[in-house]
Amino acid sequence: MANLLIIGAGGVGRVATFKAAMNDHVFKNIVLASRTKSKCDEIAKDIKKRLGVEIKTYALDAMDVDATAKLIKDTKSDIVLNVALPYQDLAIMDACLKAKAHYVDTANYEHPDEAKFEYKLQWAKDKDFKKAGLMALLGSGFDPGVTNVFTAYAAQELLDEIEYLDILDCNAGDHGYPFATNFNPEINIREITQKGRYYENGKWVEIEPMSVKFDWEYPKVGKYPSYLLYHEELESLTKNFPSIKRARFFMTFSDKYLWHLRALQNVGMTSIEPIEVCKGCKISPMEFLKKVLPDPASLGPRTKGQTHIGVVVTGYKNGKKKRYYIYNICDHQCAFREVGAQCVSYTTGVPAMIGAKMIATKTWFEPGVKNMEEFPARPFMYELNKQGLPWFIEELPTEGLPIDD
Ligand code: NDP
Repeated sequence: MANLLIIGAGGVGRVATFKAAMNDHVFKNIVLASRTKSKCDEIAKDIKKRLGVEIKTYALDAMDVDATAKLIKDTKSDIVLNVALPYQDLAIMDACLKAKAHYVDTANYEHPDEAKFEYKLQWAKDKDFKKAGLMALLGSGFDPGVTNVFTAYAAQELLDEIEYLDILDCNAGDHGYPFATNFNPEINIREITQKGRYYENGKWVEIEPMSVKFDWEYPKVGKYPSYLLYHEELESLTKNFPSIKRARFFMTFSDKYLWHLRALQNVGMTSIEPIEVCKGCKISPMEFLKKVLPDPASLGPRTKGQTHIGVVVTGYKNGKKKRYYIYNICDHQCAFREVGAQCVSYTTGVPAMIGAKMIATKTWFEPGVKNMEEFPARPFMYELNKQGLPWFIEELPTEGLPIDD
């Protein structure tokens, strides 16, 4: 059994803590720490009421490496699950090295002042983690996370080599607000307003934001316009599967969402540059926008419909061209009934807990900084079925689909 420290009491933190409590045969002591302690207390109270499991709570500024290392030591935590914001990744990794704990996160490091996300600075800590005999598992959410595991499963069990990878992320849910983001607005909008990028023949091709789209029929959910975006798992997947000739990521957005986003962009509300709003008081328009938009954690009770996320992998098996679609469908209302959160938090919090469980049980264990696809996919896929995210595999035609145009 292992002691688990979860950092971040947002929507994802709520789900990860609930799911850890449901696996209390693996996690002996579960601690939840975040900037605002009252949010931790509210989650802990709900878990005590619904599951009868005790969660200890603490206030923590995770940017403070010494304070985080002290909390890891005081709570004798073996594994730290970082579900705060990507800005905290490096500080929490350093605290893990200092206090000798394994590390898991769901999103790669982003600098608060630059909307650029990449693995470089986290991968650079590989030597330190190896030397300390500790493991850091990066990107154990859904995308990144489960999409990496699905791709690894295709490479390990279905195909001899992958040539083309298309990751398809559809949120067919409706929360009834004219505009809201399903997870942290700042992170979400920064991701979407960047230039799109995909990998082709060893190079990254950049496109204007939202300039490439097609309609895709998401099985059991419906047809939705899907836009090409850059997404962080493309970086590690193209590195770890060098046979990939082209890798792309698509996400669905409704017209209503895009109209609002364009209007906000046009008036400068999505800028991360701080501006002076009163004498001596600087705030970025994005920070202000985050304050006025609905809190993603509050969307749970109102969101209906499903998310549908999967990967289409095309490659060769015994010299024959093959294409598989591996996906999960998650129902917003089912997730809310189970843990009090909508699917975007659920599909992230469940694999985050599974990542920690893989390390706790030593099912996945190798010192160093690792991405999800570097391990056998099968045990993680087994856990997905068990912990509430069942998956499906379909064989698709190898030509004539919208992704072939
Ligand atoms: P929220 O904004 O709802 O929650 C983040 C939590 O982190 C808040 O409780 C916040 O505290 C806390 N926090 C922020 N800064 C600090 C700090 N310095 N020290 C301690 N706690 C801090 O975000 P979500 O729950 O929606 O998302 C959590 C993470 O999951 C993000 O990194 C996001 O990018 C990632 N994610 C990954 C996905 C995937 O599929 N891989 C999909 C969706 C999200 P406070 O309450 O005081 O603000």
